[in-house]
Amino acid sequence: MAASDIYPSSNATTDSFSTHRTFSSSGALPYSTHHEEPTFKIVIVGAGIGGLMLGHCLERAGIDYVILERHQKQQFTQNIVQLTSKTLHALEQLGLLDEIMRISKPMSFINLRKQNMSFIGRLDFRYTKERYGYYAHIVKRAELCKILASRMRQGRIEWGRYVLEVVSGNAGVQCRCTNGYVVQGDIIVGADGAYSAVRQNLYRTLKTKGNLPKADMEDLKFTQNAITGITNPVDLTQYPDVGNEFGEANIVIGKESPHTLWISAVSENRISWTVTGPLITSNGSVENVMVSEFGPEEAENACRLIKDLKVPFGGTVADLIANTPKDCLMKYLVLEKYYKTWHHGRTVLIGEACHKFPSFAGQGAEQAILDAICLVNLLTKIQAPYLLRDINAAFESYHEQRQPIIETARYKGQVAALVNSQGWSAEMKRKVVFNLPVWVQAHSTDKTLVNPLLDFLPPIQSRGLKSVRSFSSSRSVHSAQSV
Ligand SMILES: Cc1cc2nc3c(=O)[nH]c(=O)nc-3n(C[C@H](O)[C@H](O)[C@H](O)COP(=O)(O)OP(=O)(O)OC[C@H]3O[C@@H](n4cnc5c(N)ncnc54)[C@H](O)[C@@H]3O)c2cc1C
Repeated sequence: MAASDIYPSSNATTDSFSTHRTFSSSGALPYSTHHEEPTFKIVIVGAGIGGLMLGHCLERAGIDYVILERHQKQQFTQNIVQLTSKTLHALEQLGLLDEIMRISKPMSFINLRKQNMSFIGRLDFRYTKERYGYYAHIVKRAELCKILASRMRQGRIEWGRYVLEVVSGNAGVQCRCTNGYVVQGDIIVGADGAYSAVRQNLYRTLKTKGNLPKADMEDLKFTQNAITGITNPVDLTQYPDVGNEFGEANIVIGKESPHTLWISAVSENRISWTVTGPLITSNGSVENVMVSEFGPEEAENACRLIKDLKVPFGGTVADLIANTPKDCLMKYLVLEKYYKTWHHGRTVLIGEACHKFPSFAGQGAEQAILDAICLVNLLTKIQAPYLLRDINAAFESYHEQRQPIIETARYKGQVAALVNSQGWSAEMKRKVVFNLPVWVQAHSTDKTLVNPLLDFLPPIQSRGLKSVRSFSSSRSVHSAQSV
């Protein structure tokens, strides 16, 4: 589906390629004199959604950067993520909406069902189009990463660079990778996910100095196991609902079984499915909570435990497993952790490196994108000679703006946790939450919604009826400079 089918053109076409700085309005990626004489260089560790979004924004802002990624080549994890008006507004401003619509499906409802497929309740998400300008869209993560990566100049992403150590000093920062490869820059952004090497380096230093909060020393919280897959395109005569223009997400709660099924139709007539629960296989329970990423054999073992679960589109999970390519099948740990320390010196963290939502909370990807937008807006305001105190003021402002939003998102994510809770009280709460009238949902969303734009690009009009706030500009870098 093209963006123009559901989002008739706004003022965000090729115009969005021109910036307040030096870019032209041609469709080609812009270059500025800033690129030719770089004086401020940003080293990003990790080419996930957060790192790639930040890289693309820096490219557009004319700030020098490099992304170091441990994988040898472009090889992105196959799972789905949800994009809403929170991020689609800025992605449209970047001129990416058309491409994103081609790899996504708008979502109408989230249905909560019992194992016999009867409804417990459903949440209607269609109101968001009129109110905020966009539907919620289900997007394949790998495809979104490919779009962002394709917008960067050759050589900006260095594949096969496994970052081991970060050394930060008054004059700059050094990133040391395997095989003795070293990259230097003015600041380093840890966008390297839940097990961030950048965060671990930073925290080691802070701990030695006695400056690391106790909560940050604690491990990521393991909640349960999950197995996930995206099928090949399915036969629409067998699964007619999968071909609908709007996708419905379904959560099927296990009463007799300890497993919960999360399933939705995605673009290209594929089905994305995830089963959460203990999923402890005969290979040993201890290993199951010790290993973060399991191999294909472990995934296949776990599949045996869930193959008989019924699927709302028809058939059982066994049919889905049979139609899921092996490289699209993954067993993983559902983890959660919200760190207090997001930056120090020349190092700053974004995305899952500083806040790890459980995967089914539907927050991880959007919050990583929002981090990148907030950070790049502040970085573009730092002026030569790029003093450490100005960098620190920008990092502090980034933390001040983003941290309260993460707290709110964390609270909203608890609705997802409610789905997994057992007992009578959880059952009652689920009934209430999944039968909320649209106006109550909308009212609650109004209070917390942000959909920021990129300050260095021409703004685009809001598509929704409701005006939505950007990040709070609690402390500008300029004012901090004059302190
Ligand atoms: C199976 C699964 C299902 C999910 N489902 C959803 C969902 O439904 N909705 C949602 O919003 N989110 C979901 N998420 C989370 C979402 O994918 C992430 O939140 C999102 O990708 C943003 O993460 P990030 O950019 O911070 O880190 P990541 O995407 O984890 O990227 C980190 C990158 O850093 C690289 N890296 C790591 N260490 C190093 C190192 N030392 N040196 C160099 N590179 C390194 C990694 O290879 C990776 O490319 C899911 C995640 C998983 C795994």
